[in-house]
Amino acid sequence: MRGKHVLIVGGGVAGLSAAIELADLDIRVELNEKSNFLGGHAIGYACKAIDNTCVKCGACMVEEKLQRAVSHPNINISVGSQTQGISKNGRFSASVRRQALCIDPEKCTNCGLCSNRCPVNGAIIKSFSKNNHPFYAINIAKCLYFKDRSCSICCDECPEAAIDLDNSPSEYTIEADAVLIAAGFLPFNPRNKPYGYGRFKNVVTALELENMLKRTGRVKKPSDDLLPQNVAFIQCVGSRDAKLNHLWCSKVCCGSALRMARLIKDRQPETEVTFFYIDVQTFGKDFEQFYREAREDIRMIRAIPADIYETENKALKVNFVNHPLHQTREEIFDLVVLSVGITPGEDIGNLSRIFKLDTDQFGFLKSAGEDATVSSNGVFTAGAVRGPMSIAESIASAGSAAWKIVKYMGGRDLKFD
Ligand code: SF4
Ligand code: SF4
Repeated sequence: MRGKHVLIVGGGVAGLSAAIELADLDIRVELNEKSNFLGGHAIGYACKAIDNTCVKCGACMVEEKLQRAVSHPNINISVGSQTQGISKNGRFSASVRRQALCIDPEKCTNCGLCSNRCPVNGAIIKSFSKNNHPFYAINIAKCLYFKDRSCSICCDECPEAAIDLDNSPSEYTIEADAVLIAAGFLPFNPRNKPYGYGRFKNVVTALELENMLKRTGRVKKPSDDLLPQNVAFIQCVGSRDAKLNHLWCSKVCCGSALRMARLIKDRQPETEVTFFYIDVQTFGKDFEQFYREAREDIRMIRAIPADIYETENKALKVNFVNHPLHQTREEIFDLVVLSVGITPGEDIGNLSRIFKLDTDQFGFLKSAGEDATVSSNGVFTAGAVRGPMSIAESIASAGSAAWKIVKYMGGRDLKFD
C-alpha cells in the first residue's frame, strides 16, 4: 500500500508489532514514543526459560519486535515525542512535541562513559535493550545541569561530543491516513498500600524483580546485595481491590510471578519461595501443567497479607490470616515482591480528549466494534491501553488492529501471513 501513512502512538510491544505488520505492506509508519526508549515495560522483562525450556513468558518476543522495527526502512521512529493535537480533513494532521534530544544518536557510540562518570544516581538512565540507540538518556528530572547548572561532567567526558544539554524541544506535524493508539498501561503504584513499598528497601514490585532478573540473572536483597533466604510474592496488589475501585483482574500477574518464582528456585535452589494469592488465574492452554509443577517447588498460601513491618536487620514481618483456621500468623521474609496490577496509562485522559475516545468504567480506552479495535473513524486502538493483556495478547491485538487499518485505508484484498 505505497503512499499510505499511519501514525502509531506508543512504542511498546503492541505499537512495535503493528508498525512491523503495516510496514511490511509498504505502508509508511511514524512511530511516536513518549519515553526515551522503545519496548514499553515489557522490554525490561526477563526470559524465564528453565534449562533452556521455554515457559512462554513472551519476553523474547518484545526484543524480536524491537529489533525488527528499528531496522525497518518503512518505520520512522521518534522517541520523547507526544501528540499535542490532531485534526482531520480527509487525512489526519497531528501536531507533535519532541522533548530535547540531549544525546545525539548519530554521534553516540554507547560507550557508557557518561553514565559511569555522572555523580547523580538516576540522572543518566539506560535501556534494557541494545536495540534502543542511544542506549543512554539524560533524565532531566534528576540531572544537576537542569536543576542549577552545577554539573556538565557528561558533556566534558563524552569522547564523541554527543551530548548537548542546551538542546531545545521541537514541534512538528505528521500527516497520516490512519492513527493507532497503542500507549500501553501504568503499573499500579503500591506506595499507599500497607506493605512499606518506598520505605522498606526489601519490598519491591514484580516489575522491579523482572528488571533485576533481566540485568543480573539473580535475585538479591536491595538492602545489602546478598541472596535472600526466602522470598514472598503477594498477588493482586492494586487489582481486584474494592477499596481502590480497581475491580478488574490484571490477568498477567499470576503467570509472570509464578514463572519468576520458578526461575528463582531453579537458579537459587537454597532460596525458599512463598506465594500469597486469592486464586491463581491460569490463562493459556499450557499454563495448568506449569502451575501443577510450580506447586511442587513453591509454598502456596491462600491469603493476602494485611501489612508488613521491617525488623532491625531489614527483614520483613508479614502478617496474614491463615485460612481455613482463621488464625493471624506472622512470618519473616528477606524479600517481598508485590505483584502490582495493570492500570490505565497516566496520559489516558489526554489521549481520550485529543482523539475523542471514551474510557470504560475502569479508565481504559473504550472501543466499539466486534473485536474492539475500531474506536472511531480512522482511529484504532491496540494492546493494554484497552485493558490488561499479556505480551502474546498484545501482539495479537496489534495484528488485528493493523488488519482493520489496512481495510480502512482501502486494502481490502490484502492478507497477512
Ligand atoms: Fe554516548 Fe558519549 Fe555517553 Fe559514550 S559518553 S554513551 S558516546 S553520550
Ligand atoms: Fe549527570 Fe552532570 Fe551529566 Fe547531569 S550534567 S547527566 S548530573 S553528569
